[in-house]
Amino acid sequence: MSDISKSEERHTNSPSGYLAISDEEAFGYLDFIAEFPRRKQICICGHTVTAHKHSPPTGYYCRPNSQECPCRVIRPVFYAENASYFKRSTHGPGLKHALSLGIKAMKKAGHSGKWLVVLKCQVPDCANPDIVPVCVNENHRITMVPTRYSAFLCHMHVVEMGGTLN
Ligand SMILES: [Zn+2]
Ligand SMILES: [Zn+2]
Ligand SMILES: [Zn+2]
Repeated sequence: MSDISKSEERHTNSPSGYLAISDEEAFGYLDFIAEFPRRKQICICGHTVTAHKHSPPTGYYCRPNSQECPCRVIRPVFYAENASYFKRSTHGPGLKHALSLGIKAMKKAGHSGKWLVVLKCQVPDCANPDIVPVCVNENHRITMVPTRYSAFLCHMHVVEMGGTLN
């Protein structure tokens, strides 16, 4: 601890100090979060980015409602005009996934949103256009309960990985 503060002191007046971050990149990101505030960015698990809290040593936990979501990644995929609809729990693939439930509930109430990513099936080289969000377990099987990882898959691959869409 004392070593760090000492070295900081030594470099206070150094003209050569700089952050290894380009202005272009940083200004671009500042513009992005000004246009799409993090509290309205929706993770692929179907909950706001800001619902994810850090929890050592396991990483993150996500708590959008009274139940804990086991999401261990923060992957913003959607921007919601009104993020208050993104508090659902996943209970299946496709329309039963928390991301679909949030988006549809928000749209039903007359609000709109915007995808922050290109929707694509995550199976390499798959170009099928019918994409849905799903929860996947460690064995790459589709689950009816929330898991650590959500993914985008096409209908064909949902079925191939043991999921049912209805
Ligand atoms: Zn998440
Ligand atoms: Zn979540
Ligand atoms: Zn696919």
